[in-house]
Amino acid sequence: MSIYPLGLKLTGRRVLVVGGGAVATRRVPALLAAGAVVEIVSPELTPALRGQVDAGRLTWSERRFVPADVVGAWLVHVAIDDPAAAEQVSAAAEQHHVFCVRADDRDAATAWTPAVTRHGQVTVAVTDGGDRRRAMAVRDLVANALESSPPVAGQHKGVALVGAGPGDPELITVKGRRLLAAADVVVADRLVPGLLLGELRPEVEFVDAAKIPYGPAAAQEEINRILVERAIEGKFVVRLKGGDPFVFGRGGEEAIACAQAGVPVLVVPGVTSSIAAPALAGIPVTHRGVAHEFTVVSGHIPPDHADSLVDWAALARMRGTLVVLMGLKNLSRIAERLIAEGRSPATPAAVVQEGSTSHQRSLRSTLGEVAEAVTEAGIRPPAVVVIGEVVHAAV
Ligand code: SAH
Repeated sequence: MSIYPLGLKLTGRRVLVVGGGAVATRRVPALLAAGAVVEIVSPELTPALRGQVDAGRLTWSERRFVPADVVGAWLVHVAIDDPAAAEQVSAAAEQHHVFCVRADDRDAATAWTPAVTRHGQVTVAVTDGGDRRRAMAVRDLVANALESSPPVAGQHKGVALVGAGPGDPELITVKGRRLLAAADVVVADRLVPGLLLGELRPEVEFVDAAKIPYGPAAAQEEINRILVERAIEGKFVVRLKGGDPFVFGRGGEEAIACAQAGVPVLVVPGVTSSIAAPALAGIPVTHRGVAHEFTVVSGHIPPDHADSLVDWAALARMRGTLVVLMGLKNLSRIAERLIAEGRSPATPAAVVQEGSTSHQRSLRSTLGEVAEAVTEAGIRPPAVVVIGEVVHAAV
């Protein structure tokens, strides 16, 4: 006997889940993602499912199953391990011609949930005669093959602003990596992990934004022009940026330029160095009982400069963590200003250079001495400066 594979459109359709334990907790998210109207019947519920109930995403009847529960359902999931009770659900489902998935007994089920992998628009579902382990093994093989094979052309359009993370190529998001593999054109910044670029197919056009030979303002205009032009030619453009695209990355300007030209833009957030670099040096930007806030500022303009938008006096009054990006050059002036505005020179401070890479270095000091310590140690950009008691919370 062979099964008949099918893709169900569950949007707006009632799906009954009998049971509210670990099995239901694992099964329900895919049903909700498919838009199903999920109703759980169970005397108990796990905290995760209760959270979904509280958020209004599913309904819960706090009692045992009765056969009338299957009436009006398009699909039934049995997620209990009491065989007699499960059999009762199966019988009711059979009587009302509703397909019934049985987590406890695949032979008694009238429908199986396959092992699934999703790859953009592609969904691969594998069943193997009821042997779930083998189905999952095959699914993993297919998933790996999809991961490493050239993507299907023409699935994406426009521009994706993708955060590449702080430097370790494994710290890009799954979505970012998938889009990068599908790009026709990649426009990358100086701080983008080189190993990610090594994976690009040879026919991909690579634009090194750091090498555009104008001043910074003109270079940005040139980048915007390249993004828009290539996208209008029908190419899929990935604009790859260090860390998160919207943290001092001018991602906002590029998004606006694309939108103004009618080019669709997708933003894929990234792991920002402002949190990751401290973390990898063992410094949590918040810590219970120590810091309930953290502020990320750019130090590329000195505190007393007319163009500065940072309220250093307010920062000096705060007790929380201060993370300064692009701050090495102006570090002594920044520290002096914070101290002048009232922050103690004894406040712990740390500097993390090239966090998450094999060149990562860090040092610990105090606000009063950190600028000198950086010079002495020969710390170079890119580096983040962390100021606050959390530096002592380091592991
Ligand atoms: N969008 C990026 C920041 C761009 S501004 C992000 O979210 O991380 C560039 C600054 O980021 C650098 O001057 C430095 O302060 C910081 N930076 C970027 N990568 C870093 C890393 N791996 N380690 C330490 N600091 C880093």
